[in-house]
Amino acid sequence: MQIDQAIAGGAGVLHVDVMDGHFVPNLSMGPGIARSLRKYTDHPLDVHLMVTDPAYYADRFAEAGADSITFHVEAAGEPHKIMDRLRKLGLGVGITLRPGTEAKSLAPFVKDVDMVLVMTVEPGYGGQAFMEDMLPKIAELKDMLAPWQRLEVDGGINPATAELCARQGADVFVAGADVFGKDDIASAVKALLQGAQRGAAARGG
Ligand code: ZN
Repeated sequence: MQIDQAIAGGAGVLHVDVMDGHFVPNLSMGPGIARSLRKYTDHPLDVHLMVTDPAYYADRFAEAGADSITFHVEAAGEPHKIMDRLRKLGLGVGITLRPGTEAKSLAPFVKDVDMVLVMTVEPGYGGQAFMEDMLPKIAELKDMLAPWQRLEVDGGINPATAELCARQGADVFVAGADVFGKDDIASAVKALLQGAQRGAAARGG
C-alpha cells in the first residue's frame, strides 16, 4: 500500500484532509476513511478539518481514531472552546489559517496549541502551486511559538518549497501530489525530508 511506502521513506505523520463542501467547495474524506487508516496502521493520524463546524466533526474523528486535529481559526465557533473539547477527547491540538488571514489572528490561541499549520495554498483543492508570499507569515508565526511547538506547512510542498519553509522555521511538511503522484513514494518522501534538512541547516537548526 502507498502508505507503507511513505512510512518506509520516513513520513512521520499521516495527514488527512477533510472538506465539508461548505467551508471549502470540495467534499472529501469522512470519518470512515480515518477509521480504515486507523485499522491499517498505528502511525500518527493528523486530521485537518477544512469545515465550517469543527466542533461537530471533532468528536467523530476522535472516535474514528485521530491522534490530533487541526482546525481553521476562520471556522464557526469559539476557538478556545474547540481547543478545550479536543483536549478533553485526548487529542493533539492544531490551529490553522487561510492564506488571506493574518498571522496575528492566531495570537490569542498559539500558546494553547501543539501545532500551527500555515496554508501555503488556498485550502480545498489539491495540486496548486506553492504561494511564496506565505514565507514571511511562517517566520512571523515561528517567532510566536515556543521551541516545542510544531510549525507545519500544507500546500504545494516539494523538496524545493520544503527547503524554503524550513529556512523560515517550519518543521512539519504536508505532501500530497509530490509524493503520492510518484512511482517511488519512499524516495519522494526522502527527497522532501532532505530538502527540509537543507533549509533547517541554512537556518542554523
Ligand atoms: Zn491539509
